[in-house]
Amino acid sequence: MSAELPFTVSGVTVRGKRLGTRLGFPTANLSYPPVEHLPPNGVYVALAQIDGQRYTAILNQGHHPTVPEGQPTIETHLLDFAGGELYGRRLTLTYLAYLRPEKRFATLEALKAQLAEDRAQARRWAEMPSAGMGMPPAHAPNQKGEPMNDMHPIAIPPIDTQDVSYHYEEDGRLAVNHVSLAISQGTFVAVLGHNGSGKSTLAKLMNALYLPSEGRVLVCGLDTAKEEHLWAVRRHAGMVFQNPDNQIVATVVREDVAFGLENLGVPQPEMLPRIQDALVAVRMTDFASAAPHMLSGGQKQRVAVAGVLAMQPDVMILDESTAMLDPSGREEVLGTVRKLNRDKGITVVWITHFMEEAALADRVVVLHEGAIAMDGAPRAVFSQVDALKGLGLDVPPMAELAAMLGEGGLRLPAGILTVDDMVKELTACLSK
Ligand code: ADP
Ligand code: MG
Repeated sequence: MSAELPFTVSGVTVRGKRLGTRLGFPTANLSYPPVEHLPPNGVYVALAQIDGQRYTAILNQGHHPTVPEGQPTIETHLLDFAGGELYGRRLTLTYLAYLRPEKRFATLEALKAQLAEDRAQARRWAEMPSAGMGMPPAHAPNQKGEPMNDMHPIAIPPIDTQDVSYHYEEDGRLAVNHVSLAISQGTFVAVLGHNGSGKSTLAKLMNALYLPSEGRVLVCGLDTAKEEHLWAVRRHAGMVFQNPDNQIVATVVREDVAFGLENLGVPQPEMLPRIQDALVAVRMTDFASAAPHMLSGGQKQRVAVAGVLAMQPDVMILDESTAMLDPSGREEVLGTVRKLNRDKGITVVWITHFMEEAALADRVVVLHEGAIAMDGAPRAVFSQVDALKGLGLDVPPMAELAAMLGEGGLRLPAGILTVDDMVKELTACLSK
């Protein structure tokens, strides 16, 4: 099988859910156009994502043995699905591997045996190393004794830039210079770098506003350079910019949040709950009927976040979205986005020049002249005071103080970032 996998389809509506009394597990009928380049009548392992929850799924594309002949439904069952209402909800499905051709079985026993085998195979995929970059079981044979198809990562990083470069002018210098950056799902990544280091260019490469001059960018497994992926990419990876005033398009908050959904052609009855949910998540329901120009900068940015959120993205990219706000506005927006990351599992790329914001991230990436200069946990990055200064960055004051104390002979553990860290470490050190 040479078909291109992994392959992601989003916005898949669940049309049915039933507890298969005969088979003993829930199945969901899905409605979406069959994936053209994958063989129909195939059984696939997929990753199903809904509201930040992930399930391993077995997809039957074509004629599922339990569905009447000729019916175009695609069926799936979600392994370890504990129940709950799926009807009418939207899934993102990433096809990971082809298991076998679909076929009809002479007896229920034969079907059950096959399904047990399918589930065992799918679980082997699901159990691969949690970072998800593991390989499938070493050429595990499928039913027919054929090796499984090519090796693919099980968990698709929502953002994966592969040796990406970008220049604004032909034979101009590289604004982004051979950047390979895979961001795993649910991570809050801060991107730092002085002015002109390539942060905004990289951000725009991550949602197909720019296409790479070299290398490729995959968003949830979709190559941004393929024109047919454009809208899917924009929906998977939503962007919030710096200036709140340039992002508002409507005269009423609710309509502003609706704007992106209208562009996507989301049907009216589905729009209303999505708008409401997004406004709840950014705590702006009281302002749903307000005029955006009456809002504070922080509130406007939260409306912009709601507009992206309503599109149910996997990733949010915020390019210095707090830069123009006062300290309380910055805190509002950062707090809102951190909560979305924690509660909904949305992956966040947070571009900032505020070190104390970056200190809260899971991972810090420092750009310099378009290339990755540092990449690691905040403590690891911020303990490299001299290196950061060499890149033209301000070091968090407490990290700098710790370095100065070290030079003066008072050695403190690496990675002090905040006043709290400093108090804790000094207290421990002085009480020895
Ligand atoms: P940052 O967001 O880190 O400040 P940018 O991505 O905006 O960095 O810029 C990276 C490099 O690309 C800089 O040298 C900048 O001058 C150049 N650049 C940015 N935008 C453009 C543009 N529209 N046309 C030409 N060069 C640009
Ligand atoms: Mg910028």
